[in-house]
Order: sequence, then C-alpha cells, then structure tokens
Amino acid sequence: MKKNIILALFFIISFDVFSQESESPNIILMIGDGMGLTQITSGMYSNNNKTALEDFQYIGLSKTHSYDNLVTDSAAAGTAMSSGKKTQNYVLGLDHMGNPLKSILSICQDKGYSTALIATSNILHATPAAFFANIDYRYNYEPIADQMTKSGINYFVGGGEQYFNSRKDKRNIINEMTENGYEFVYNISDYEKNKSNYIGFFTAKGEPYYSYKGVNYSYREDEPVEDFKGRESYLARSTEATLKKLKELSKPFFIMIEGSQIDWGGHDNDQEYMVSQFLEFNETIKVVLEFAKKDKNTVVVVTADHETGGAAIVRGDLSSSTIKNRFATPNHTASMVPVFSFGPNAHLFKGIYENTEIFNKLLSIVEK
Ligand SMILES: [Zn+2]
Repeated sequence: MKKNIILALFFIISFDVFSQESESPNIILMIGDGMGLTQITSGMYSNNNKTALEDFQYIGLSKTHSYDNLVTDSAAAGTAMSSGKKTQNYVLGLDHMGNPLKSILSICQDKGYSTALIATSNILHATPAAFFANIDYRYNYEPIADQMTKSGINYFVGGGEQYFNSRKDKRNIINEMTENGYEFVYNISDYEKNKSNYIGFFTAKGEPYYSYKGVNYSYREDEPVEDFKGRESYLARSTEATLKKLKELSKPFFIMIEGSQIDWGGHDNDQEYMVSQFLEFNETIKVVLEFAKKDKNTVVVVTADHETGGAAIVRGDLSSSTIKNRFATPNHTASMVPVFSFGPNAHLFKGIYENTEIFNKLLSIVEK
C-alpha cells in the first residue's frame, strides 16, 4: 500500500515536471507591413480612439535600417526579424555575403513546433517569404514557390496561386504538393471545415485586392475599380481558424500573420486604403489576444518592418473619428517602428534595439 502511494506520488511529481518542461510557448508574430506610429494612430482615431494594441503589456522600438540602406525594404527587414542578420534590400534569407540563414520558423520546426503563415498579399511576398526562402531577389516568385514546397509549413493563407500552377517551367506545384499530403482550398468556409494537417488556402491568383465597407478598391491603375472583385476581409477569420487548427495539432506552434497592405496604402499615399488595412489588422490582433489570454502559454509580438509614406496626421476631429493624413514620400521611411508584446517573456521586448533582436529574443524564448 505504502509502496503504491510512493509510486503514485512519483508519477504525479514526474508528470508535473515533464508537463512544465514540454510546454514550450506558442509564438504569434504579427507584422503590419509599413505600420509606423502614424498608421496606428490614424487607425485608432478613425476607430473611436481605440486600438487592440492598448491591451499589450510591453512596448519597444525597433531600428529598421538594412545592411546597405538606411531605408529598408520588406525583404531585408523580414530577414532581420526572421533570421537575425541585416542584409541588402531585396534579399531574402541570406546574409550580406550571400550565406543562407535559418529562420525562426525553421528552428521552431526542429524543436517540434507546428507552423503557419498568413498574409493579405501573395504568400510568396517578401514578408512571409522571409520565413522560408533563401534567395537573392524577392521578386523571383517561381523559385520562391519551389522553396515553399520544401518548407513543411502546416497551414498557409494568402494569394499567389499563379506562381504554383501557371509557371514558366510548366510544373504544377499544387499537384506536386497534393501528392506530398497538402490539401488546397479556395474559400474561407472550406478552409475552416478542412481537417488536414497541411492546408494551403489561396485567396487570389496574384495579389488579393481589397474591399472596404462594401466598396472595392484597386491599387493598380491598369485595373479599373468597377471591373474587379475586391477581396473579402479574411485576415481575422482565417487567423481564428488557423489558431484552432494549430491548437488541435497538440504541439507548440509558431505563426506569422501579416497585414500586408497597410504598406500599399502608404505607397499610394491613400489614407482611406491605409487606415482600412490597419483596421483589418487591428481586428486580427483582437482575435489573437483573445486566444493568448485564454491559452496563457502564448507569446504575442506585434511589430512592423518599416514605416511607409512618411505619414503625418495634420488635422482631424475626435468626436466624428475623422483624421486628415499628409504624406512625405511614396516610399518607405527610416523611422523606428513600435514593438508590442504580450504573454510569457513579453518583457524581453521592451527598450530600443535593432530589428535583428526580434529574432534573438524569439530564439531565447524557444530555447528556454
Ligand atoms: Zn512597401
């Protein structure tokens, strides 16, 4: 009898130790492309003076310059955050000498994590691609798609279908990936219903255009607004579905979620476009925070790769939630960008540091 009690105690204690050690935290990295303080503030004042970012525990600032340019592009900034090295603009997953780098996503996979990528651009665009690609030119989408087939990412959501199945080399990578266990879906309800451990959800053949308050917009001049069908706002809903899927895999997970088109609104110097994309991202942050608060073992980091447009708020009215932006440039700027963090080890992200430190801080959490 006594022996049984001791044995039972042993199991309880060892199970407890085991469960603590095995519970590596989930990591949710959210990147608002081109989301500087003015983009956040403009969205906040347009939204009854509120943003989900007010719920975060720690705030830092990240220096965004690339290896060869004070003003970074999304490829170099994505590489800095995903892989910890400053590199040249346009380069993905290589250091400035051209050596391949291992991304935090890939390191997490080695540690048994499930992984996912979600973007409102094509899924091979610079920011998501920085987490799996190693290539010297970000716009080489077909080789980047090829690299994606070898990435082992469980779930991905974004545009870019044409780089998988309408290729110059005539390969149909969708068929190849299907043979290797992936399933592909083309709308959100099929994505939610699908139970596969490996799913690609294509939201557009090329770039997913955007739709805001029932009105369709195009950022391309060669595509008249009345002729094209704007994308449904899918970021928050597909994020919710993906978190559910990842949770059901019963392993720790890493996910990167990008609000890609905040940047495109900035390039267009189009206040309404930019703010609409921030607000979609803001809704997604709410979904993520709700998950993290319940889960208690999820670290959430929200940041940007750079600011776009040199945006300023020059006037507005709080009572009607209206603002007026002016822009200094159609390009990116070199301003520091904020970093918001929540969850276990969130304190690591306070202070002022290089964007490469985002990688180092995430790595230290994964390696704890
Ligand atoms: Zn840009």
